[in-house]
Amino acid sequence: MRLSRYFMPILKENPKEAEIVSHRLMLRAGMIRQQSQGIYSWLPLGKRVLDKVNAIIREEQNRAGAIELSMPTLQSAELWQESGRYDAYGKEMLRIKDRQDRPMLYGPTNEEMVTDIFRSSVKSYKDLPLNLYHIQLKFRDEIRPRFGTMRSREFMMKDAYSFDLTSEGAEHSYNKMFAAYLRTFDRLGLRAIPMRADTGPIGGKLSHEFIILADTGESEVFCHKDFVGFDIPGEHTDFDSVEGLKAIFDKWTSLYAATSEMHDEAAFNAVPEGDRLSARGIEVGHIFYFGTKYSEPMGAKVQGPDGKEHFVHMGSYGIGPTRLVPAIIEASHDDNGIIWPASVAPFDIVVINMKAGDQACDDTCELIYAALTKAGKDVLYDDTDDRAGTKFATADLIGVPVQIIAGPRAVANGEVEVKDRKTGARETMTIEAAINRFVA
Ligand code: ATP
Ligand code: MG
Repeated sequence: MRLSRYFMPILKENPKEAEIVSHRLMLRAGMIRQQSQGIYSWLPLGKRVLDKVNAIIREEQNRAGAIELSMPTLQSAELWQESGRYDAYGKEMLRIKDRQDRPMLYGPTNEEMVTDIFRSSVKSYKDLPLNLYHIQLKFRDEIRPRFGTMRSREFMMKDAYSFDLTSEGAEHSYNKMFAAYLRTFDRLGLRAIPMRADTGPIGGKLSHEFIILADTGESEVFCHKDFVGFDIPGEHTDFDSVEGLKAIFDKWTSLYAATSEMHDEAAFNAVPEGDRLSARGIEVGHIFYFGTKYSEPMGAKVQGPDGKEHFVHMGSYGIGPTRLVPAIIEASHDDNGIIWPASVAPFDIVVINMKAGDQACDDTCELIYAALTKAGKDVLYDDTDDRAGTKFATADLIGVPVQIIAGPRAVANGEVEVKDRKTGARETMTIEAAINRFVA
């Protein structure tokens, strides 16, 4: 992508409305724009990051055996009347009427709809277990939307829903998502700690929130510090192994970890003082096992091996991609801007032409840009005629992991500079060496 032809509206000034660093940097880097309170457009740079986050979420959901579909944002109120949540949900639900005066709503979550899909076609235990997910916009009319897309009214959620014949089966389905979440957040460059959580309005029996430690987090959390160094399940994890996944779950729940709602002072005090971590955190995922809470009122049942009908045991599993993007920034930035983990960076490499219009600089940059693009890299080429200082500041601000800098003096020697955004380390090398480094 040539920056001269791209749309990346950088802000020079710090936006006054932004209270936390991620919100400030997302606005400054031209990633998002607020359209009305708590409702955002994702501008091209932000959209690239969001897509990469979603791609990782999707890969790990698929690896764990979940199946993707897509459900609508607008739902009919009828389904929610069946479950009893139409009245229970309260003001967070945006209620709308269509031209026939039928009550509709903008979905805050999808348990009812997915249960309806399930009951319409699954009739036998032989079709279980089943886990269906989608990545879709949600709307919750939050009292206090704030911190940009960290807590917005319209936001994106990956929500998965599992269906099992028995509670033992449902527990295994829960453990699959538990392990998939550990892998997902790790690949996003984050250390998320599963904490025992309240089941809230979704209701249920077993629940964990996945929390990232961050000073700007809205939750108060308490945990054993060893979680910070625990091993993440590898990519060859066998998601069909009941014992294997149970062992992962047991290990990751063996030490104290709870949010303030579930905090047990006495249990926490039993942790040796030097091992106690009391901090603030950001909830990036939340998983629930809620048994037959929806399947019973909505009549979602299957025929079991005993020939009888059984209400299915369900769980639901949410991750917030539009909250994860700022959460990653909270965890990874410096005074100059964002530092993206390579896995979600909007571009892999930025090529900086320090003197656009200079034939040698132009030729060198074009050569590098073409070679790296051909090799499948996402390359941003700063071919604008901005001052070099402005270009460096922009490259640092948008956090692309690698900068290849072509200035007249180096280029005259057949060289460029390669800068690592995270460490700031710079290395001068031949043009060929610079290309070869990134062409595997
Ligand atoms: P919170 O406690 O932060 O209000 P929640 O418990 O209501 O969130 P869940 O119903 O558990 O949220 O939703 C699953 C995930 O969706 C959350 O873990 C979070 O990542 C994301 N999410 C929820 N609400 C918002 C929001 N208003 N803005 C952005 N992401 C959200
Ligand atoms: Mg939650």
